[in-house]
Amino acid sequence: MRATCPTCGDVELSVTEVQVQICVTTAASTYSLLCPSCRVIVNKQANESVVESLAAAGARMMVWTLPAELDEPKLGPKITYDDLLEFHLGLEGETWQEELAALAANG
Ligand SMILES: [Zn+2]
Repeated sequence: MRATCPTCGDVELSVTEVQVQICVTTAASTYSLLCPSCRVIVNKQANESVVESLAAAGARMMVWTLPAELDEPKLGPKITYDDLLEFHLGLEGETWQEELAALAANG
């Protein structure tokens, strides 16, 4: 089959080098292929007819769902860059495991 790589342009490849990803949660589909020329993985949106023809041609199909954590209620203020920096510096220290255990113990 023929596909388009953003770097190499039109390339010829086997359908076995194409994988279709179907998200059950959002019904959105993409497909990815390994460019035979530059070996970069190219990802593209796939509408229903593209999915059908790739499936019929024998492309690998991969079905996935969004992680359940996305449905969890988000409480508290948003994480800021300062929080992230503090977290990073905290992890560089020697005592973060003890601090975490103390936080967990205090509920
Ligand atoms: Zn390429």
